[in-house]
Amino acid sequence: MTANPVRLQAIAAVEAHTPPPISFDPGEEPGEIFGSNVFSLTAMQKRLPKSVYRSVVQTIEKSTPLDPDVADAVASAMKDWALEKGATHYAHVFYPLTGLTAEKHDSFLDPVGDGTALASFSGKTLVQGEPDASSFPNGGLRNTFEARGYTGWDVMSPAYVLENPNGNTLCIPTIFISMTGEALDHKTPVLRSQQAMSVHAKRVLELFGHTEPDNVVAYCGPEQEYFLVDSHFFLARPDLLNAGRTLFGAKPPKGQEFDDHYFGAIPERVLGFMMDTERELFKLGIPAKTRHNEVAPGQFEVAPMFERANEASDHQQLLMTTFKAVAKKHGMECLFHEKPFAGVNGSGKHVNFSLGNAELGSLLVPGDTPHDNAQFLVFCAAVIRAVHKYGGLLRVSVASASNDHRLGANEAPPAIISIFLGDQLADVFDQIAKGGATRSKEKGTLLIGVDTLPDLTKDPGDRNRTSPFAFTGNRFEFRAPGSNQTVAGPMVMINTIMAEALDHCATYLETALAGGTDFDEAVQTLLSDIVAEHGAVIFNGNGYSEEWPVEAEQRGLKNLRTTVDALPELITPEAIELFTTYGVFSEGEAHSRFEVGCEQYVLSVAVEANTALEMGTTTVLPAAIRYQTELALNVTALADAGITADRTMLEAVTGLVGSLTSSLATLKEAVGHEHAEDPLETATFARDVVLPAMAAVRDAADELEGLVADDLWPLPTYQEMLYIL
Ligand code: ADP
Ligand code: MG
Repeated sequence: MTANPVRLQAIAAVEAHTPPPISFDPGEEPGEIFGSNVFSLTAMQKRLPKSVYRSVVQTIEKSTPLDPDVADAVASAMKDWALEKGATHYAHVFYPLTGLTAEKHDSFLDPVGDGTALASFSGKTLVQGEPDASSFPNGGLRNTFEARGYTGWDVMSPAYVLENPNGNTLCIPTIFISMTGEALDHKTPVLRSQQAMSVHAKRVLELFGHTEPDNVVAYCGPEQEYFLVDSHFFLARPDLLNAGRTLFGAKPPKGQEFDDHYFGAIPERVLGFMMDTERELFKLGIPAKTRHNEVAPGQFEVAPMFERANEASDHQQLLMTTFKAVAKKHGMECLFHEKPFAGVNGSGKHVNFSLGNAELGSLLVPGDTPHDNAQFLVFCAAVIRAVHKYGGLLRVSVASASNDHRLGANEAPPAIISIFLGDQLADVFDQIAKGGATRSKEKGTLLIGVDTLPDLTKDPGDRNRTSPFAFTGNRFEFRAPGSNQTVAGPMVMINTIMAEALDHCATYLETALAGGTDFDEAVQTLLSDIVAEHGAVIFNGNGYSEEWPVEAEQRGLKNLRTTVDALPELITPEAIELFTTYGVFSEGEAHSRFEVGCEQYVLSVAVEANTALEMGTTTVLPAAIRYQTELALNVTALADAGITADRTMLEAVTGLVGSLTSSLATLKEAVGHEHAEDPLETATFARDVVLPAMAAVRDAADELEGLVADDLWPLPTYQEMLYIL
């Protein structure tokens, strides 16, 4: 091969790769290690006095506040447990608005003079921390002079010990709030929205004859897609390093057209990595379940079993951290970017969600009796109302600069939020709609009351992979979230809009009953009213088709193509009304999310633009010019020898060098443009001026990649990154 030395060296290093030693006993049972590093309820039960343990369970199940004495007892037991596990430090782990995970570590040991130190950890330290986290984005919620933020333990999410070759750390999942109680993080609103949803779900359940039902929780099962790339290639790509995606790179001769990677045999090296990650996840009590290859070469998926939304989102963040760390150990880099490679499928994180509790199971499963089915249909109708009325909020919950590359690109649902119900359910709602229509009109036909609702089979049979919000038999699958995003964002929106919809249903039924209407009849009217008002959101067709955006527009559904289009949804009067009514965000908090959203967008684009500018100027252009010189010398040499040289190549390269140079100049100007006061205006500029300027640079560079001599091209190619593992 004549490839560039940088790339040749990388390839040789990949070939010479030896897997890291297996870190576990071959005879080890997964059951033995599952949750071994978690201070779980079982661990607490063993170590806590009965009354204390009961009180903790009460807090988890019934959301009662944690008593300070109980906190002290838990802290003390937790400390002993953690010390036995080799922990030297503890950390409050929190989830700031960057979407990343943050932690502040403190030592367990308090020096007490004479060289002795005591391990101390009180209830107060457990339930409250005070990181000086003033540089996290807060969207105007805090001034730096009062920058203090407080962390507080989310009792429903258990503490765990994180192992590290240099020492173990007790990690405590916490919320992160300002001195005045404003949420500066992603966890607080999950808990608030969860509570709001539960209140109204319980009202509906009571109407269906369940007396004092347990809290209803939102369950979330996230499917995580990711790419693995060998570190040697990764390190030779400043774009992957800085921006998480390639900003240059021509399409490889062989792409994913053959679909030969999808569910194919997992490469041995990757399998070793997967086994290692699963073991780490098991120790942390994360129930990783399925693993397989995905559509694109180098792309894979992991899906843990569903859990309560707050725990699932903590676990999801931890999973990503674990994957990154284990990949490094295996000489690879794990990419969570939504679109690391242009022209190749991107990565999503499908959020499967359902509502329910231990007593009643999932409330999104058809029941065995028409009565149960009526209850199921009310919950489904609530989903229909929620998604139709607040599609814009679902859209904004998945909005990011990186996810914009994926949504609507024939590999992920379009930016239009619609619901897929499957033939069976769609048919039922169709009948309900018709029943409602005949009832109110001419013939006075019999009501399709609860008793005559059709039987529902539990296997919906069909699947629709093009829908952003699909019913899959016992849950809905929100397919728009990006691989890099926290699931907390989508779950907050789902809970909140479900709270509103269930509130609507409960109020409707309560009012009807109080007015003397028969329950069956009230349910019937409620369902048919919802279908009449919100049925436009139901779409069972192909979401990737060209006709759909046109039809969606006729139906009045929003098509918020980019993050910049979506962000204002957070601060519409309807959104503020919703957030404040259900106590999820104050007006200030909603605005802060909007501002942070704009800031993050602008920052991501700026990092990419600066990287593209630098790589374009210092890597791509020099390679092209060298080749251009070589061609020019060749032309003169031939002319000297009396041969008429073919100048086609030289002219092509010269043309592209010209385009590259001028597009780099345009990009430089765009990057240097002064930011507007208004965050949305700055974000709009990034979208409308900076991104197209980057695209122009890339166009010229990618074309050059196809012309310039391979030994002059220093950037690892798509072929190398995607196929050599
Ligand atoms: P798919 O066939 O869609 O790729 P996977 O098996 O990869 O399915 O992932 C399905 C996900 O849905 C898992 O995380 C699983 O735990 C989750 N899930 C299953 N049932 C429910 C439910 N009732 N509520 C929420 N999530 C669920
Ligand atoms: Mg899957």
